[in-house]
Amino acid sequence: MNQRIKDHPDLAEKFNADEARVNWHDETLWWIRQKRDKAAWLLPEWEQLRETASLIKHNVLSNLSEYLLQFEQKARENGIVVHWAADGDEHNRIVHSILKQHGITQIVKSKSMLTEECHLNHYLADNGVDVVDTDLGERIVQLAKEPPSHIVLPCIHWKKEEIGELFHEHLGTPKGNADPQFLTHAARLSLRKNFLERKVALTGVNFAVAETGEFVVCTNEGNADMGAHLSDVHIACMGIEKLIPQRKHLGVFLRLLTRSATGQPITTYSSHFAKPRKGQEMHIVLVDNGRSAHLGKESFRNALKCIRCGACMNTCPVYRRSGGHSYHNAVAGPIGSILAPNFDMRANADLPFASTLCGSCSNVCPVKIDIHNQLYQWRQVLVKEGFTPRAKTAAMKAMAVTLANPGMYKIAGKMGRIAMRAVPGLVNNKFNPWYNQREMPVPPKESFKEWYQKNRKS
Ligand code: SF4
Repeated sequence: MNQRIKDHPDLAEKFNADEARVNWHDETLWWIRQKRDKAAWLLPEWEQLRETASLIKHNVLSNLSEYLLQFEQKARENGIVVHWAADGDEHNRIVHSILKQHGITQIVKSKSMLTEECHLNHYLADNGVDVVDTDLGERIVQLAKEPPSHIVLPCIHWKKEEIGELFHEHLGTPKGNADPQFLTHAARLSLRKNFLERKVALTGVNFAVAETGEFVVCTNEGNADMGAHLSDVHIACMGIEKLIPQRKHLGVFLRLLTRSATGQPITTYSSHFAKPRKGQEMHIVLVDNGRSAHLGKESFRNALKCIRCGACMNTCPVYRRSGGHSYHNAVAGPIGSILAPNFDMRANADLPFASTLCGSCSNVCPVKIDIHNQLYQWRQVLVKEGFTPRAKTAAMKAMAVTLANPGMYKIAGKMGRIAMRAVPGLVNNKFNPWYNQREMPVPPKESFKEWYQKNRKS
């Protein structure tokens, strides 16, 4: 019960080995956070928008089954084929079966965190299907054979010089050319061929409207539109929580999403898909994959309000200095640390501890999820379930006993001060993770209580 599979501190240490990269990662994300602040302050009704969005999502989560059935009916009436997937495996099988029906072995895909969560690319590759990710950042990490490190900025951990080398190797650009405009153009040229040749396009879904059976995909590069408009078959994959009740609610979310994500007033392309064009097939796969179970956990259910803007990552001091891959999960950062233990408590038991609980994530969240509070609650669940390291559990128990007993606390404090002064190596050694990163303080000769009794107590 006490064994953890992966560990955030170990993976963060790997990222921290390159200090220059860490500093630059930290500063870039903080710059985006500041852009978000300016964009938010420009709207006097910002807080009202957040409150409205949160209440709309609360309504959706409270009536999810009704809204899903309404969406299914309307989408079918529009000519969209609706599929239901209980988990990631079923989602992958459904997508593959559509491709098999058409004899397709090559597809284009726009960025979708859900397909990352379901490991669709690996599944399709194992079944002989070639997937080209068409979002520029996704394409970069795909060429590098890495998962995205951020839900909005998938290759934020890559420097332009490294991307120049990667493109030189895979796209044949001149060696040493790291000009972003040139590299973007090279990627566009290569992707254009894929868009024109591939018959099936897969996209994610940002918002699905129960009232009308339509869905909206937001991109800054227009890659979802290029794929969907040029393909014979459009497959859209969405988590069941992406619903909103009515089309009029879109205005609330579209105003919040990109301002929170990148500080832009609106996404460059907010594309509405209501029905297949003449001669085209349109499918939508509604995926549960643990969401119903999450909905049933009262303390954690409002995490399903998340609209995947990434603002909580950009502001998180731990994310910014540990990198997205240290979260070993499709969705990294504060919100990922709430969602991941729901999927697999044992494998993700380390993540709720990867936080300072400073509350900055909750302050920026456009749908007002109490992120830091949920992280704190997860910690309590994980400790009770025995998913924390044995040594830490034992140390915390000893600490609880000591702090609950004034006599024992006094003796332990005295012994600690004497030992640390006489044999500092007892504490200041490589087995102490705190000492590895910090200077330990010089212990005082007396406790505060002793000082107070001597100097202040009359
Ligand atoms: S939890 Fe909130 S801030 Fe974080 S990605 Fe989701 S909506 Fe954005």
